[in-house]
Amino acid sequence: MKVAFIGLGNMGAPMALNLRKAGHEVTGHDVSESARTRTEADGLVVSASLEGAVANAQIVMSMLPASEHVESLYLSESGAGLLANLSPGTLVIDSSTIAAASARKVAEAALRARIPFLDAPVSGGVRGAQAGTLTFMVGGERSTFERAEPLLGLMGKNIFHAGAAGAGQATKICNNMLLGILMIGTAEALSLGVANGLDPKVLSQIMSRSSGGNWALDKYNPMPGAMDDVPSSRGYTGGFGTDLMLKDLGLAIESAVATRSATPLGSLARSLFAAHSLAGNGTLDFSSVIQLIRPPGLT
Ligand code: NAD
Repeated sequence: MKVAFIGLGNMGAPMALNLRKAGHEVTGHDVSESARTRTEADGLVVSASLEGAVANAQIVMSMLPASEHVESLYLSESGAGLLANLSPGTLVIDSSTIAAASARKVAEAALRARIPFLDAPVSGGVRGAQAGTLTFMVGGERSTFERAEPLLGLMGKNIFHAGAAGAGQATKICNNMLLGILMIGTAEALSLGVANGLDPKVLSQIMSRSSGGNWALDKYNPMPGAMDDVPSSRGYTGGFGTDLMLKDLGLAIESAVATRSATPLGSLARSLFAAHSLAGNGTLDFSSVIQLIRPPGLT
């Protein structure tokens, strides 16, 4: 299949490369020249123009930062965005994490243009994107989901149909609110252990096999030196940016307000990530939030 992949950042680049490795004819596009150069060096065909990437594409995938980027790509202010320029029947899959309302807006415009559209955000981090083991949470028509499933299976190992348009995003926001809370709780427990003279590696191994075990602790340990090959072991570079987590917690709070839901820990987590971002750490991986609790340099 001829696939256009828009957004070659931490997640999009390895996802696009997995599609190419599986034999698809993938052309990537990113507005950032450095992202294009890096991905090209990794072996992907890239196009500096959006038009060049989508020409004759049978499938368009996007992996962009936030709602505004997705709306401007597909709809644009004049309403003459990408959807208006694709052939009817082209399968469009957006895997960015955005507001469910934005996903529904794009889905409605896609329906009018006779373009099958899915919101398909992912979980699993950069490692999952590289290994092709992401979890996809998909919203949209079941028949479109079934058409996309084999393609998504090349980038992920758990592919779920969450419901109608927007349901993938609503699911993702619940998941990421929990992840944000778990990361702060994990950082707090590890910092307490270190302050009490414990070895963070040993403490982590014990808690992993005890009732405190969770993904942030087991797979994404925030304490430097506790785990190899995670952002905390390389100065919190790569991975999932603090500002992206802040965005997701903001989306969780917006949807809580809209539904009069109580999210006390989600609200607190959002404030803590906001304080961490305001202190200049927005581009560091979100596990660096541990520095808010245990500033670097403490012995
Ligand atoms: P990133 O910032 O590394 O990459 C986003 C890329 O999109 C950038 O290279 C940027 O230049 C490009 N871009 C922005 N606007 C564009 C446009 N109009 N056209 C083409 N390219 C454009 O972000 P990421 O970490 O890859 O995350 C992407 C999405 O996936 C976000 O919504 C994020 O919340 C979600 N996500 C990230 C992770 C993670 O661990 N990083 C995990 C799950 C979900």
